[in-house]
Amino acid sequence: MPILNRVAELQHEVSEWRRHLHTNPEILYDVEETAAFVEQKLREFGVDEIVTGIGRTGVVGVIRGQGSGRAIGLRADMDALPIQELSGKAWSSKTPGKMHACGHDGHTAMLLGAAKHLAETRNFRGSVIVIFQPAEEGGAGALAMVQDGLMERFGIEEVYGMHNMPGMPVGTFAIRKGGIMAAPDKFTITVKGRGGHAAEPHHTIDPIAIGAQIVGNLQLIASRNANPLRSVVVSVTRFQAGTTHNIIPEEAMLGGTVRSLDEAVRDLAENRIREVAKGVAAAHGADVIVDYERACPVTVNHPDETMHAARAAIDIVGGQNVDTEVDPSMAGEDFAFMLQARPGAYIMIGNGKTAGLHHPAYDFNDEAIAYGVSYWVRLAEQRLTE
Ligand SMILES: [Zn+2]
Ligand SMILES: [Zn+2]
Repeated sequence: MPILNRVAELQHEVSEWRRHLHTNPEILYDVEETAAFVEQKLREFGVDEIVTGIGRTGVVGVIRGQGSGRAIGLRADMDALPIQELSGKAWSSKTPGKMHACGHDGHTAMLLGAAKHLAETRNFRGSVIVIFQPAEEGGAGALAMVQDGLMERFGIEEVYGMHNMPGMPVGTFAIRKGGIMAAPDKFTITVKGRGGHAAEPHHTIDPIAIGAQIVGNLQLIASRNANPLRSVVVSVTRFQAGTTHNIIPEEAMLGGTVRSLDEAVRDLAENRIREVAKGVAAAHGADVIVDYERACPVTVNHPDETMHAARAAIDIVGGQNVDTEVDPSMAGEDFAFMLQARPGAYIMIGNGKTAGLHHPAYDFNDEAIAYGVSYWVRLAEQRLTE
């Protein structure tokens, strides 16, 4: 594994960057300091072209190889989460209420490591486009970059993404063709009844009793409406109503999420939520407002690019350490927007036995750095020398 050995020399430096980013988390599009750090590093590496402000605070670097050829995009996300850190690490967040709980500090540092190596060695033709995006966590930063002309401007023909996965051993990768991450949608249902004295329910239209019926009926979408071979999750995660024990309130509000791996199932779930909420409310004389909000699409790996990504991973860690038919995750990922714009693939890299993603005790595992950097380098060289 020659690349892995060469990249191992970068491990220390990359982990320093990673810890610096971890200490200084920024949220959504407000990643100015992180973007400035990325820009400065790309300049130090002698990257040929650096463009900032794509998708508001995204940064793109172009590394040209020896001779003309195709262009492929490698993408990392830069944003942190609004969580109070409890990792206890020496490099913990210095900003109360913000932390890198999804490992985007590691993703950014690994792509910087790959950029450094590729800018030094340039063992390829054409261009490697390194993409650092803001607002992955619910801000559609990938879409903002695509809408800003990311793909056309740099002539990107294929695009690849990577995410760390707690629970998968360090030095392993996992991928699948087709849907690998779900479409994470949100819904809010407001039941409008008629309030009154709790001792006189016959003079009221009780939005709590009706809301409870709606919660029960929504369970039938996954169990009775959707094809059992096409997964969907419908979770009601909020139910807010009322102020005290002797008042039936005017309104109840239910909220939750729908996760699907297939656009047809997604449409079915949205339609059923609307029909069930309206039908149950009508049966009991209440009004209902359903607000269904689609976030990012299903993250769909394209077949050929999935194979290229798997080959690069196998070159680094061997076939026994690459799962090419991993179960999809019902979490969402806005890299989905980039995969709608260009063919590509999204791979998972083992983070070892750490706390889970979005947990306050989570920390990116620096042991994974050499594997992640090597994967990026191998993938770029493989796609741009054949
Ligand atoms: Zn996340
Ligand atoms: Zn993430």
